[in-house]
Amino acid sequence: MTHPILPPRFGEPYLLTPGPLTTSAAVKEAMLRDWGSWDGDFRAMTAEMRARLLAMLGEGAGAFDCVPMQGSGTFAVEAMLGTFLPPDGKALVLANGAYGLRAANILRCMGRDHVVLDKGDYLPPRGEEVAGILAGDPSITHVLAVHCETSSGILNPVEEIAEAVAGAGRKLLIDAMSSFGAIDLPPATVPYEAIVSSANKCIEGVPGFGFVLARRDALEAAKGNCHSLSLDLHAQWAHMERTGQWRFTPPTHAVAAFLEALKAHEAEGGVAGRGARYARNRDVMVEGMRALGFETLLEACWLSPIIVTFFCPADPRFAFPRFYDLMKQKGFIIYPGKLTVVDSFRIGCIGQMDEEVMARAVRTAGEALTEMGVATAVPPETALKERARLAA
Ligand SMILES: *Cc1c(COP(=O)(O)O)cnc(C)c1O
Repeated sequence: MTHPILPPRFGEPYLLTPGPLTTSAAVKEAMLRDWGSWDGDFRAMTAEMRARLLAMLGEGAGAFDCVPMQGSGTFAVEAMLGTFLPPDGKALVLANGAYGLRAANILRCMGRDHVVLDKGDYLPPRGEEVAGILAGDPSITHVLAVHCETSSGILNPVEEIAEAVAGAGRKLLIDAMSSFGAIDLPPATVPYEAIVSSANKCIEGVPGFGFVLARRDALEAAKGNCHSLSLDLHAQWAHMERTGQWRFTPPTHAVAAFLEALKAHEAEGGVAGRGARYARNRDVMVEGMRALGFETLLEACWLSPIIVTFFCPADPRFAFPRFYDLMKQKGFIIYPGKLTVVDSFRIGCIGQMDEEVMARAVRTAGEALTEMGVATAVPPETALKERARLAA
């Protein structure tokens, strides 16, 4: 079925960013009333939200439960790591960007034993490497993988990683923050212990909380593991099971908005429908940007339908801050790059946008280049050499 995409109201720019992102009018309107956190109506909303998220997990979801957690996505990552990794456990963190490194940083702050496989700005961690590290270190109990590493936009090969982790008898935790709801990862085919995401990414809600979908036996076994009072997922889960309530003040308005977003997600055809729209957004945008001379950091097979990194053009008349301002004036907020080696920027494909909006964003980028006096957006030689590393 078709899903009406309406422009943001009040002349707001589109957020071509990986969350917070452009939300629908219905999502914003759902926040125009107050809810009592203890009241039965809000408890029913929490229960419906948890059930809908579990259903979204796909085949194998029966063994799982859903635990929401107040805060931004990082709070939920910290809750997942602190709850499932026992104090005497050891984690292998697979990093190829800011979010993998952040997970390692969380473990360092918590004082939990860990090793990091750091692949740099964007090279993907592969199943074979993971198998090798696990074979060489039997003390590793858990592996953390990032599904879509939003820093570069790469879609990491979690299927082969999950196979390597399960093959070695260890447990996998997945940061699927920016992919959950748009890319399927059913636990029946990709074995994992827990997966984490948040309200303001592919489900298209507003920021305020994250959620962890975890095996029920893992939740039961995690009692007493957590270093933190408020980030203890076992405690939150046990309390919610018993009372239907969140342990501490819930983000009531964000939950009401999220329920509206979940209904729209279902109406769009669930994970498949949402993922298909984002993939079309990406394809139209990447094709248009390439026609302007821009090049993507990643080869086609690694491009996620979530966010795409482009090299900045070689032309010295191009300056990202000016490009950003021109795009914003014309209605589109883009995202700076996070690469350490070459200059780049990012354009997100998620949120209340369709291919028509993406085509307009590309036309706007062309106008911005013209205003800057940039004839072609072709990147410097060094950028293309950098990209060749991925193919090698
Ligand atoms: C957005 C995101 C997070 C969480 O970031 P917050 O700013 O704390 O919401 C974590 N991991 C990935 C891969 C993300 O895209």
